[in-house]
Amino acid sequence: MSDLSAPITALKGVGEALALKLGRLGIERVSDLLFHLPLRYQDRTRLTPIGLLRAGQEAVIEGEVTACDVVKGRRRSLLVRLRDASGILSLRFFHFSPAQQQQMRPGATVRAFGEARAGATGLEIYHPEYRLSGSETPVDEYFTPIYPTTEGLNQPRLRALAQQALGLLDDAPEALPDVIPDTLLQRFQLPGLHASLHLLHQPPPDVNIEQLTFGQHPATRRLALEELLAHQLSLREVRLRIQADGAPTLPSGRSLQARFLAQLPFALTGAQRRVLEEIGHDLSRPAPMLRLIQGDVGSGKTVVAAMAALSALAGNCQAAIMAPTEILAEQHFRSFKAWFEPLGIEVAWLAGKLKGKARLDAKAAIADGRARMVVGTHALFQDDVHFQCLGLAIIDEQHRFGVHQRLALREKGEAGGLTPHQLIMTATPIPRTLAMSAYADLDVSVIDELPPGRTPVKTVVVPDERRPEVVERIRLACSEGRQAYWVCTLIDESEVLQCQAAEVTRDELTVALPELAVGLVHGRMKSSEKAEVMTAFKEGELDLLVATTVIEVGVDVPNASLMIIENPERLGLSQLHQLRGRVGRGSTESFCVLLYHPPLSKSSRQRLAVMRETTDGFRIAEKDLEIRGPGEVLGTRQTGLAQMKIADLERDADLLERVTAMAQTLQGNPDITSVLVRRWLGEAAGRYGQV
Ligand code: ADP
Ligand code: MG
Repeated sequence: MSDLSAPITALKGVGEALALKLGRLGIERVSDLLFHLPLRYQDRTRLTPIGLLRAGQEAVIEGEVTACDVVKGRRRSLLVRLRDASGILSLRFFHFSPAQQQQMRPGATVRAFGEARAGATGLEIYHPEYRLSGSETPVDEYFTPIYPTTEGLNQPRLRALAQQALGLLDDAPEALPDVIPDTLLQRFQLPGLHASLHLLHQPPPDVNIEQLTFGQHPATRRLALEELLAHQLSLREVRLRIQADGAPTLPSGRSLQARFLAQLPFALTGAQRRVLEEIGHDLSRPAPMLRLIQGDVGSGKTVVAAMAALSALAGNCQAAIMAPTEILAEQHFRSFKAWFEPLGIEVAWLAGKLKGKARLDAKAAIADGRARMVVGTHALFQDDVHFQCLGLAIIDEQHRFGVHQRLALREKGEAGGLTPHQLIMTATPIPRTLAMSAYADLDVSVIDELPPGRTPVKTVVVPDERRPEVVERIRLACSEGRQAYWVCTLIDESEVLQCQAAEVTRDELTVALPELAVGLVHGRMKSSEKAEVMTAFKEGELDLLVATTVIEVGVDVPNASLMIIENPERLGLSQLHQLRGRVGRGSTESFCVLLYHPPLSKSSRQRLAVMRETTDGFRIAEKDLEIRGPGEVLGTRQTGLAQMKIADLERDADLLERVTAMAQTLQGNPDITSVLVRRWLGEAAGRYGQV
């Protein structure tokens, strides 16, 4: 007698070989079979009159054999003519045995299942499943499930296994508890877990099969909701666990902050001040802050990060800021050095490419606390980097940083076993309901205001045959003392080709614009070379910078007021928006030229039109969601939302609000959370939650 939590090999007839195949489908335990849901269903619950059958339809038919012949066509086949009261149809077999031919003699009654198609003799079914029948033969009691499968594993086998699992569920229902309380089930009018599973694996003939096929049936929705809930609860669990740790209570550091602000050439915007207040409140508490700042490109997140860092420093702790790319990290390094060194604060730099003695020195300064402010890439949070007392970890561009890394940060506080506060910054604004699911472990602040004096970027969409005009435009802008970007997009996955293309473009533009200083930056250059070029551009030594999409995030050169993006149709909206955010940072009017290669697909046309019409990051994000769907937009690898088994963020978007309400009610209840997280995210996640 096996139970649902047993390994799949506990089932009758499942040996190592079969277990291996099931493993490829993610089925490891008996209960996994229950959550391996059919892709679609076949209706074998009723006989369809032949006369009503249409090409493309799958159906069970029954008729009397009127003829059975071996016919010679391009391929020899056995052709069986069948007749019922409503019409005639042929069964065709390309592989057949003499015994089969014998069976199908005229006068026999045959029941067959398959897909009708328009064939040489009218409607035909190729290789139907069939049997000889009397008129008493019953039809199936349930719809037939078709499961996602893998090589060497057929549907009848999977079906039989699912049946076994359902049998075990009936024998021991308590092994798969329905942990969503009845009150919530009733409030949201959801069916129970067991009833839902039975229905999905064995739909009765009166079920609405359309609803079922398109994931709209209450039984599917119930499971989708449970899965979304499990994801959200696991994120909330991470949050609760991190927040159960102690964190250093940080003072506001007002005098230090005032000295910092006094040297800035601008005043903070209202939105920046509001967000800083929210951060200040978090930092003054003895539990780690977990806060996400959403702010459109150019909204001034870096200054906010610097202000928060000063609180940590005033509290005698270190602060660290991590950027996703080396170019960005170097830019932050320069900014923080320029801002902090006049205040007597040492800023250290650490990236993967820093080697040898320089690396050892940086690590030593971080470990003994000489370096108060640390700037770098992912290298910052590797095992061999020890902080004296990290009070605040700032992560720029959240979508490349996952929950597990967030958990790992707990160990970086070191001194006194305190966990650092975490501030995460992203320029990808996403609608609120989605944010509450994807970032359920974070509090969210929004910088919803751009610094004053910015003129919105004007965007034009131009076919590439007008390239010469565009080159003239660059000549003009640069002759007036401004600077320009020329962005080459990805041609294929190969970075090498992409960089080569950028080199070719640089050469062409150098020839076409001999009076300009043209620079090039791409992903295959050494980081020191990249930094040199970026500095030259920033200082105005270069007029035109040809770049691959490496400049996408964060690079800041206010004098650049023209950007050409070649083949923008290859990029998603959010990426285009990020790129375009590199211009329009100063007070002169800026332009973005989207130089596309015709013809455009419908969705490319739509995307480019959105870019022309608006510069509002939230609107663009919403359009992006509509056009590409949430998975693509969120870059869901890290959020875990991509690997969902049943839920579909697009289809089930309307469930998210309910899920959030439920998660609020249920969080902190270990019985419910651990059951759901294990059920939907697996053992590993269940364990992770208990770190
Ligand atoms: P992002 O939010 O995209 O990271 P940055 O922090 O790089 O934006 O800021 C963009 C530019 O705006 C920088 O040049 C920064 O110095 C400037 N900036 C930030 N805050 C203000 C402000 N309140 N007023 C004027 N300029 C500001
Ligand atoms: Mg930035």
